[in-house]
Amino acid sequence: MKIICVGRNYIKHVKELNSAFPEDLVFFLKPESALLRRNVFFIPNFSNEIHYEVELVLRISKLGKCINRKFAHRYYDAIALGIDFTARDIQQQCKQKGLPWEKAKAFDGSALISEFIPINEFKDLNSIIFSLKKNGEIVQLGNSADMIFKFDEIIENVSKYMTLKIGDVIFTGTPEGVGPVKKEDLLEGFLEEKKMFRIKIK
Ligand code: MG
Repeated sequence: MKIICVGRNYIKHVKELNSAFPEDLVFFLKPESALLRRNVFFIPNFSNEIHYEVELVLRISKLGKCINRKFAHRYYDAIALGIDFTARDIQQQCKQKGLPWEKAKAFDGSALISEFIPINEFKDLNSIIFSLKKNGEIVQLGNSADMIFKFDEIIENVSKYMTLKIGDVIFTGTPEGVGPVKKEDLLEGFLEEKKMFRIKIK
């Protein structure tokens, strides 16, 4: 499977990181080894600044290449909530030097994905509310309505460059409010009202 991640997809998040406003979709990959397979995230020793980024995650359900936006909805069947853990200090160094982001984004455990919910259980894919609590306080509150590139545009754009295969997943970008984690923090993610994950930081 591939883990595809969209960057800079919410205006207020682009602003909070002082990033350039995207003219085209920004995306990168995490390897399968990045999947967090338990309810504990261990802070890696190479970073002093690990950030959470809560995101909606699409599950690809059909093989496709060069998918037209009009048909894109046929290629994903479920949505999960995830965290794109990011070594922000390493990422800033990479950005400054114009280097790739893998060291900051693709490390072991950097991709948390909850269980998936079938898309037919959502009232409106264009207004899915999701949130992240850190130690009981809401730190990120997102709405898919605020995405710069919507789900179907993401599918169209990514599939221009790479074949989407059944079981691939796409992180669709994070809203504003990203921030650091420290040992003993508790992260809880919510899709609408439903609690999707509970992760302890170690
Ligand atoms: Mg992200």
